[in-house]
Amino acid sequence: MIVVMRSRATREQLDFIVGLLRDQGLTPMSGTLLGVSMFVTQENGSPELASVVENSPGVDRVVVVTGAMRLTSREFLAEDTRVRVGPAGEAVIGGPEFTVIAGPCAVEGKEQMDSVTDAVVAGGAVMLRGGAFKPRTSPYSFQGMGLAGLALLAEQRKRTGLPVVTEVVTPADVECVAEESDMLQIGTRNMQNFELLRAAGESNRPVLLKRGMSATIEEWLLAAEYLLHTGNGDVVLCERGIRSYDRSTRFTLDLSAVAEAKRLTHLPVIVDPSHSTGRPHLVAPMSLAAASAGADGLIIDVHTDARNALCDGAQAITGEQFAELMSRLKPVVEAVGRILSPSRSHFLAQV
Ligand code: PEP
Ligand code: MN
Repeated sequence: MIVVMRSRATREQLDFIVGLLRDQGLTPMSGTLLGVSMFVTQENGSPELASVVENSPGVDRVVVVTGAMRLTSREFLAEDTRVRVGPAGEAVIGGPEFTVIAGPCAVEGKEQMDSVTDAVVAGGAVMLRGGAFKPRTSPYSFQGMGLAGLALLAEQRKRTGLPVVTEVVTPADVECVAEESDMLQIGTRNMQNFELLRAAGESNRPVLLKRGMSATIEEWLLAAEYLLHTGNGDVVLCERGIRSYDRSTRFTLDLSAVAEAKRLTHLPVIVDPSHSTGRPHLVAPMSLAAASAGADGLIIDVHTDARNALCDGAQAITGEQFAELMSRLKPVVEAVGRILSPSRSHFLAQV
């Protein structure tokens, strides 16, 4: 059950609701979302209780939720959430726009960032991606440039006006990553790092939550629930492929999860066709398929010198391939009733 209080509910009214719920053996957890106080319980309680609570002073509404999800559920919010990213909401994820984020897997240096950023802006990306802190499977692989990488991302953000998304791997780094970027990425390997989820939720930044490579849809949405429970409603989900037996692709892109997550939750869902397939020639077909399946956008690895990339060069597409993909994407996006986000980069005229 979710009890949504009125914005002017008094302390006494809040306490009264807590007492009512506790008397019935429920354990209410209090939270604030979209500036509104609410109580969330794991059990729904009886229909009579719901009715008593709903008719109590200070209560706006009671939502009885059927599944495991609470704040992420469509039952709680029927309308699609739109997440605005950037100081002036330069990029919007969710709603009628289809939003394309692109950039290198990892930030490698100034020259590389200048070159890849120019390419993705020219192709029509509305946000820039790039990892400064890289959670690598092997300790011997390039671990990212860390703080220096964040500074290079911030430089590109200033130069182009594109909002930046970058991964954060530990709660201790949340503050500095939030300062230098516009959106925090939680990677597949950290989807159930609950301390990290809490810290990212408590930052004032939107969060991009990638699906754990072996996570069920429910586990993925419950991870998002942790973020919303901190009061941060600006959460975007990302399907990035799950483990299967087939080694001909890096992971198996689960597009049914996109349609299913969109049914269960009001949060936007985007697709990563690069990490899921691991193959540049599969990026375009899977991007078109993701748009058809109802995804709200894409996050794509682009590199202008993939052969010498320090991370995931084997899956990156070139700037030219990216531009071609964007032109093929437009009619597909429009065929499913959406529009391709227009770039709001102030840098466009100069590229
Ligand atoms: C990434 O996007 O840079 C990344 C590491 O992705 P994932 O967490 O999905 O592997
Ligand atoms: Mn990568």
